[in-house]
Amino acid sequence: MEKNSTTPSQLLAMAQCKCPRCRKGRIFEYSALNLPKFAKTYGHCPVCDLRFEREPGFFVGAMYFGYAISIATFVTVAVAIVILSTVFQFQTSVSLYVTSIITVTLLMAPVNFRYSRVLMLYFFGGDDAKYQADAAK
Ligand SMILES: [Zn+2]
Repeated sequence: MEKNSTTPSQLLAMAQCKCPRCRKGRIFEYSALNLPKFAKTYGHCPVCDLRFEREPGFFVGAMYFGYAISIATFVTVAVAIVILSTVFQFQTSVSLYVTSIITVTLLMAPVNFRYSRVLMLYFFGGDDAKYQADAAK
């Protein structure tokens, strides 16, 4: 697929959850804030017809990315608590860490889910993959 000056960079397209091949078509049908439907993924790119789920269970591998994002979230929240407790001089406890980490992780679940799939697509299902949209038909 030909890239022109209006094609966003790969990093920007990834951040905006756009197709890894054309970088214009949306991967998800609804916003991440639409909680009942945030996980609804298009079967094919609406612009270039790239098949997103290349094989049954393709997105199972996205769990590994989700795990990494979760660990990054845990560490970020824990470090934020340490910094805030130092700056504002308050006592911390294990329950503060646990409830804060669980709360932030649950609030970030739709974002984690979507970016796990986006990373899976960009690493294993993008423009350079051997897979061609025509082969699936
Ligand atoms: Zn596309």
